[in-house]
Amino acid sequence: MQQKGSITKNGQYKTLPGDIIAQAEEYLPGMNSLEINGQIVALSVGGIRRDDRHLVISVLPEKVIRRPRRGSIVYGQVIKADRGNYRVKIGAYWFPGASHIFETNEDASLVVSGSRNGDMAPVAVGDYIRAKVLSDRNGYTIGIGGKNLGVVKAFCSNCRSELVLKGRFLYCENCERTEPRKISDDYGKIYVEDEKHAK
Ligand SMILES: [Zn+2]
Repeated sequence: MQQKGSITKNGQYKTLPGDIIAQAEEYLPGMNSLEINGQIVALSVGGIRRDDRHLVISVLPEKVIRRPRRGSIVYGQVIKADRGNYRVKIGAYWFPGASHIFETNEDASLVVSGSRNGDMAPVAVGDYIRAKVLSDRNGYTIGIGGKNLGVVKAFCSNCRSELVLKGRFLYCENCERTEPRKISDDYGKIYVEDEKHAK
């Protein structure tokens, strides 16, 4: 049996697509497998199930449930603001040690620390933010405290032009005015595809 897959922690063999898992004279191909030139080939990643009564061999696809968890870094858009309560639609996330960014589709509640800036809102509806998951119980709670957290892309509340960084403030070149935000230290330089290189 020619194998390219791997052995899992609990000693089970995990297939990769293309693995030869049996000879056609031994088994019939079942779920997620196919007969090719007298060999049964796995079509997906998963565990092998042999039904020796019916002589059928199958691959049980691995169910990977991936969700952001506490400590994950999430990317999302502020979709609602209601007197200091913000809802954020999370579209992607990353966690320390991960090799790439994962897609997701979750809603989160953004916690904004203190109102030390008076009525100055740190984010606005439509902003794209990078935040950290503070809690993943009873829905997601995320925060933007930290240098590399905060708004990564924002638009003028007046004309919807993209705001540009001018000094430490966000500026609309069209309206010639600044808007307050809690920005990430790499505002305007974010390419989500490159985020795997982020800290
Ligand atoms: Zn403007």
